[in-house]
Amino acid sequence: MTSPPKIVAHFDLDAFFAAVEELEHPELRDKPLVVGGDPRGRGVVATANYAARKYGIHSAMSCAEALRRCPHAVFLPPSRSLYSQYSRAVWAVVREVVPTVERTGIDEGYLDLGEVAETFHAVRSLAEAVQTAVKGATSLSCSLGVGTCKVVAKVASDRRKPGGITIVRPGREAAFLAPFAVRLLPGVGPRAEERLRRAGRVYNDPHVSHLRRSRETPSYSRIPRGRVVPCRADVGRRAVQGADRGDDAGQGR
Ligand SMILES: [Mg+2]
Repeated sequence: MTSPPKIVAHFDLDAFFAAVEELEHPELRDKPLVVGGDPRGRGVVATANYAARKYGIHSAMSCAEALRRCPHAVFLPPSRSLYSQYSRAVWAVVREVVPTVERTGIDEGYLDLGEVAETFHAVRSLAEAVQTAVKGATSLSCSLGVGTCKVVAKVASDRRKPGGITIVRPGREAAFLAPFAVRLLPGVGPRAEERLRRAGRVYNDPHVSHLRRSRETPSYSRIPRGRVVPCRADVGRRAVQGADRGDDAGQGR
């Protein structure tokens, strides 16, 4: 007898730092807004709101470049204690809907939907309940990806931002991941990509579908747990490196 598939959601607040600043400064809503370092110094973009992203501004870009792309953008330094307050409020209400969560960052984490949803049929209404609870408590928007494992859930949560829900049903995992660049998989950075390239497993434009054709590819669920989501306990460092990088992961690839 096989056990029923796990049901895991990846939860991700949309443009979190910028969204909080918009709530605190309603006059900034609809204006291109960049939270990060000094655009006249060497700072980088932690989070850009969606109005700024229309100018090609994204997390981890230098603020000087962001200023070049959008000279009328508003630049704000991160207000970390404020974001922490919002984050605590968010996770408190998320836990009321889904008790078992694994926070992996100030604005993202995994939810054990299987604990409250018996099958995938109940998943959409549960994900919507999470969104409604978060919106009701904080006015913030979030996106969720749901799948049978963390890797799939994480990639899925980025598909329909902002405010999206993407559900990958059991058996659809490989087909869902196939079109994406291997670098989009959580835990696969430049070094892992290079190792795959050296091993002849991926080519100049490495996509997951190439991995599927390889005999040595581990199944997605066997990617070592610790590498699936790099630990990001250090929020400050994370912010400098681009706090909302996940939001941008699908862009330009
Ligand atoms: Mg986010």
